[in-house]
Amino acid sequence: MPEGVCALCHQNAELRDSHLIPKGVYKALREPDHVIRHPILVTAAATVQSSEQVSDYLLCCRCELIFEQNGEDWVLRNSPKRSGKFPLRDALLRSSVKSEIPSGIICKAPHDPAFDMEKLIYFAASVFWRASVHDWGGSKHLMTPAPLSPLVEGQLRRFLLGIGPFPARTSLLISVSAGQHPRPQCVFPTPMQKSSPNVPDISAVAFCTPGLQFRFMWDNVPENSQSVSVIRPPHAVLLTDRVEDEIFENASHLRLTSKVVGSLGDVSF
Ligand SMILES: [Zn+2]
Repeated sequence: MPEGVCALCHQNAELRDSHLIPKGVYKALREPDHVIRHPILVTAAATVQSSEQVSDYLLCCRCELIFEQNGEDWVLRNSPKRSGKFPLRDALLRSSVKSEIPSGIICKAPHDPAFDMEKLIYFAASVFWRASVHDWGGSKHLMTPAPLSPLVEGQLRRFLLGIGPFPARTSLLISVSAGQHPRPQCVFPTPMQKSSPNVPDISAVAFCTPGLQFRFMWDNVPENSQSVSVIRPPHAVLLTDRVEDEIFENASHLRLTSKVVGSLGDVSF
């Protein structure tokens, strides 16, 4: 392991080969018994089966362990399983406070061991921070850079170290897939486009892991968006079909220019 300065604690240490998206997510995307075993990567340039993972020497052992224990392990344990079980969603469905909106059902985070809002928030913060703090070098062809502002990046670092609050005047939104068998798919942190020209200019980044979508906004975030952030009571989460539909639509859109490289077997979009 090379020596260097850990990006989180800023101490000199042996650095681990750190992942942008946890290794366990790639495992969930693999189909060991299918002719196409590895995830299919879709970009505007190419559609290809790829075992490549986005990783680089970023964190010391201690900070890697903090990330695992404070968020990743719990999120992976409660994410969708091949058996169809999705513990996190099942716990959310037991929430006693729900209200319907056009895009899905807003659920107040339940008091349930299978739904740990602190771990979800920590996990989201750690991935947004990782995407911003490091130039992921050789993996650039896999992803679009997703930088935060230097101020918010520094605040998130302090939050992740447990020495500061979650950045103020921002909004973190979490959506959980309502589908019975969420497709195993992942979207790297990517800057969000404005949904219409009338929407104010705010900075926003999003990423998805199987069954979950995380969106983070900062800079000029209107009060109505701040008020629905999971950071604020009642810590509400959206249960929706739209996450998967949007990913599928975006992939279909990319496929207009994307060239298929190699065989994709019977997989179609
Ligand atoms: Zn460290």
